[in-house]
Amino acid sequence: MTDVGSTATPAPPGARPAPRRVAILGSTGSIGTQALDVVRDRPGEYEVVALAAGGNAELLEAQRLEFDVPADRALLCADRPDLLAALASLAEVEVVLNGVVGFAGLPVTLAALEHGKRLGLANKESLIAAGPVVAKARAAGGGEIVPVDSEHSAIYQALRAGRMSEVRTILLTASGGPFRGRARAELEHVTIADALRHPTWSMGAKITIDSSTLMNKGLEVIEAHELFGVPIDTVDVVVHPQSVVHGMVEFCDGAVIAQLSMPDMKLPIGLALGAPARHPVPYGPIDWRTLGTLTFEPPDRDAFPCLELAYAAGRAGGSAPATLSAANEVAVEAFLAGSIPWVAIAEIVAAVLQAGTGNVDELGDVLEADRVARARAHTELQRRNAA
Ligand code: NDP
Repeated sequence: MTDVGSTATPAPPGARPAPRRVAILGSTGSIGTQALDVVRDRPGEYEVVALAAGGNAELLEAQRLEFDVPADRALLCADRPDLLAALASLAEVEVVLNGVVGFAGLPVTLAALEHGKRLGLANKESLIAAGPVVAKARAAGGGEIVPVDSEHSAIYQALRAGRMSEVRTILLTASGGPFRGRARAELEHVTIADALRHPTWSMGAKITIDSSTLMNKGLEVIEAHELFGVPIDTVDVVVHPQSVVHGMVEFCDGAVIAQLSMPDMKLPIGLALGAPARHPVPYGPIDWRTLGTLTFEPPDRDAFPCLELAYAAGRAGGSAPATLSAANEVAVEAFLAGSIPWVAIAEIVAAVLQAGTGNVDELGDVLEADRVARARAHTELQRRNAA
């Protein structure tokens, strides 16, 4: 694969800067397709030099033709972590957008950081499972993470208002999902269609189910801890059903800086691609005349035990976050396949965590923790189905 960057001639003074070369990995998903929308909105500003998907060959090929990506840089990567890593480390790539879903996104995160790239990180599972290993990759390669998750993008923006040493609390907002306000007993018979009906965001299936259980918010607490280097309990969660305030930072003098916009992932994606510059197209602009009331309430930790499970895993550290995330992936897949009820997702994750966790220093530890947690989750599924 050639290094097109190294042969470029310097632009004459006053000339438009060369397009920023981006790899959109997970290009056929919700994040990936919206990232390509952002690129389309700014002709000449970005050049898509690599694409990757799991199995959707038809859409990948259509994207490849539209963005004129060479065939050896637009690849189906299901079960090919090596290909994902190769695309993320291509010499000509400046920004890698990781829109792969689940633990499968780990090679993208590690390769991008090891090779000194800007990583636009939507794939939270890789950072949660492999926090210490990702930190080493970042330090060794000099790569930079710009969060794509809307809450973390909001925090990234709010932190520009003060110093890290002045931060008292990082507040992540949660829409509360489709089951907000329901008691635990009312959640026993919810269906897959109910859980997929998110009130404010249109997203891929896995994160939509995670939002319905509040596991998504729990994963985001660990994500914030890893991204911003703050203790787990410095990160708090507040339910905000309108999804207009995406995140807030409370500083030591009591000032709270928040980021607001109507729900539109193209805003944080645009910032991740263009940072420190803001994208010159407004996404999710607010009409103050019609916005109405913004409300805030505490999460119901009894009805949604996944939130507390994630806090516990985050506090425990080591391989507990990897175990939590892997068990959750298995349980969510089983729920989406119709083989367990919604309430069993939290029960399976709790059972797998209870079986114990270990340390994480190297990539091998992460892979092993993931493997063991998945095996335990499958055993738990079999035990339930046999009962
Ligand atoms: P989707 O399910 O919509 O898309 C997932 C993408 O990953 C698809 O392109 C899929 O390809 C690809 N993929 C799956 N497995 C592999 C693999 N083994 N190798 C390469 N590519 C693979 O998910 P989302 O876009 O919703 O979410 C992506 C990530 O972003 C998740 O981690 C999620 O938590 C996070 N996120 C998403 C948000 C959203 O608004 N959607 C908001 C904030 C974070 P194919 O279609 O071919 O199977």
